[in-house]
Amino acid sequence: MPLYEYFCEPCNGIFEELRPMRESSEPVPCPECFKDASRIMPTSFAAFTFREGYPRRIPDDGKYYHLGQKVSKLVSSGRPNEHPEVNKPEPPRKKLKGEISEIRDMQAEARKGALTDLSGNRVKPSEVASMAEQGRVLKKGTPRT
Ligand SMILES: [Zn+2]
Repeated sequence: MPLYEYFCEPCNGIFEELRPMRESSEPVPCPECFKDASRIMPTSFAAFTFREGYPRRIPDDGKYYHLGQKVSKLVSSGRPNEHPEVNKPEPPRKKLKGEISEIRDMQAEARKGALTDLSGNRVKPSEVASMAEQGRVLKKGTPRT
């Protein structure tokens, strides 16, 4: 039997129920208050969570819904359509071994005063790593100034 989602208005909660397909549109008694709860269409879900705020799950597991996804915390700051658990920041990319030794080589050149950027300005050893990360061009050579 397929799993359907139902919304109980008095409890302001959502619960799931296994039901035969032909009965899926009929109301189901809420497991908490036993009042009839009507089925939520998957297509109306996003709009529904927006309009009603943050309905809870029955039985209440302390989770909230945000943009149709289950999260454990309400958004307390930031933009309303973003959530730290939904919009995860990308983890910083690990540097490859080759890149690390390349940066070390460039830092050694920079210490000798023999590393420049694309326009020939001297690059300090402390600037090498961040410039390499930004994809800036670093060249061996005598600075123009
Ligand atoms: Zn209820």
